[in-house]
Amino acid sequence: MFENLSERLGGVFDRLTKQGSLSDEDVKTALREVRVALLEADVSLPVARDFVKAVQDKATGQAVTKSITPGQQVVKIVHDALIDTLTGEGEPGALKIDNAPAPILMVGLQGGGKTTTTAKLAKRLKDREGKRVLMASLDVNRPAAMEQLAILGKQIGVDTLPIVKGEDPVAIAKRAKTQASMGGYDVYMLDTAGRLSIDEELMQQVEAVRNVANPRETLLVVDGLTGQDAVHTAQNFDDRIGITGVVLTRMDGDGRGGAALSMRAVTGKPIKFVGLGEKMDALETFEPERIAGRILG
Ligand code: GDP
Repeated sequence: MFENLSERLGGVFDRLTKQGSLSDEDVKTALREVRVALLEADVSLPVARDFVKAVQDKATGQAVTKSITPGQQVVKIVHDALIDTLTGEGEPGALKIDNAPAPILMVGLQGGGKTTTTAKLAKRLKDREGKRVLMASLDVNRPAAMEQLAILGKQIGVDTLPIVKGEDPVAIAKRAKTQASMGGYDVYMLDTAGRLSIDEELMQQVEAVRNVANPRETLLVVDGLTGQDAVHTAQNFDDRIGITGVVLTRMDGDGRGGAALSMRAVTGKPIKFVGLGEKMDALETFEPERIAGRILG
């Protein structure tokens, strides 16, 4: 569907006079194509603009090596710059979960994949790090969501906090903390309620839960296919709640991954994991290389 960026740039450079180094004009022409490719990959306009400008400064005057064409050279510079932007601090996928029991707060909009991701992450912590995990659903308005977490817990062999009817989210969070301490759990995960859109009531509720839980990690789960909406959601949650990382779901879909770049550039928060399907094992550490390749097509 998308023309490969390398091929497209190859065409551009064929029309230019080749010299020993990349001229300002060469780079400008090539970067116009790069900008289009970024926009097609659903990177937001201001982010694409800033990114291209940074690359332009880096690329101008670079010697053209004989082994690759000028087009390929610009693609390489762009690729490296994408990796730089996408790479967060520290090891990707690493969570601060020392000092048991460590609370992890899961936040996001309804349908983004929050409950599924909570269970996937619990399974990962159990299987890969040998952690004892307790999960609790705080979605008191949707009994089905609470049930869903309990069902997933059984499926993956992770305990869930028993459901008590009529309890509010803050009370559930407190009970989860007590049970996690008394039961010798390493981690307890709080799956907060989602709404179809951000509203004041949702934010107040999540804020109240955050205040009692004092989470070590607050992970925002967002649908990676929603592009700019995902970035706005991240910005809102970060401003209001303060997130420590992002999980992009549905990256098994045919989106081009531009949301990841915008997300990093706008919020500065690391993308820790990506969801790659509905199965409980379909959660992977975020790999900048893979997304960079996908964005460039
Ligand atoms: P929540 O409302 O945010 O808790 O969303 P759910 O966890 O209930 O997920 C909504 C739907 O998205 C479910 O059918 C999940 O199986 C599906 N889902 C979640 N993560 C992924 C993913 O990474 N890829 C795909 N293809 N589907 C996902």
